[in-house]
Amino acid sequence: MEQLKRAIEERGSVLTEGVLKVDQFLNHQIDTSLMINIGKEFVRRFDDCKITRVLTIESSGIAPSFMAANELNVPLVFARKKKSLTMSDNVYTSSIYSFTKQETNEITVSKNFLSPKDHVLIIDDFLANGHAALGLTDIVEQAGATVAGIGIVIEKSFQDGRKTIEEEGYRVESLARIQSLHDSKITFLNDLPI
Ligand code: 5GP
Repeated sequence: MEQLKRAIEERGSVLTEGVLKVDQFLNHQIDTSLMINIGKEFVRRFDDCKITRVLTIESSGIAPSFMAANELNVPLVFARKKKSLTMSDNVYTSSIYSFTKQETNEITVSKNFLSPKDHVLIIDDFLANGHAALGLTDIVEQAGATVAGIGIVIEKSFQDGRKTIEEEGYRVESLARIQSLHDSKITFLNDLPI
């Protein structure tokens, strides 16, 4: 997606250890018109999937997922990283290892918001090693629902996430795929270095 690649080039920055910082438009400040187009692009790519619900993880997955769910006219559910006091025990949980925080968190989704009839589009902001995405597929499977696919805003293709997810039999669509962040340069898959 060209508009997203331009935003990454112009407003993203490379931190150490292969981490991309995009807090100017996705992870802190949000570029709403870019998010609207990201939502539309996810809908175009999963057009054939009869999606009934979008599932993401708080907090950075919410903005792109909101736009996709709104375009699809279906509810958006976000997994919580901390169980709220108002949540009952009627929940699905899964443990995920956080790439950026380097710790394991339990994520929680109320059983009220997923049913076996659902075709769920999972969306997240980044794909690194695939732990967050697979934690969400685990929750969908626990509900007896179907994973329609996984939509990722920014895939770091030099990490194993796509391979791991595809080996589990899930379809992944990423709107920008980064081949390398070597020497603080952002190189997209199939592109020359910038
Ligand atoms: P994974 O679970 O695939 O290893 O990592 C994906 C999760 O880690 C995403 O939900 C995202 O929050 C975070 N993440 C992974 N890599 C990056 C990165 O390079 N930059 C940012 N901002 N977040 C990342």
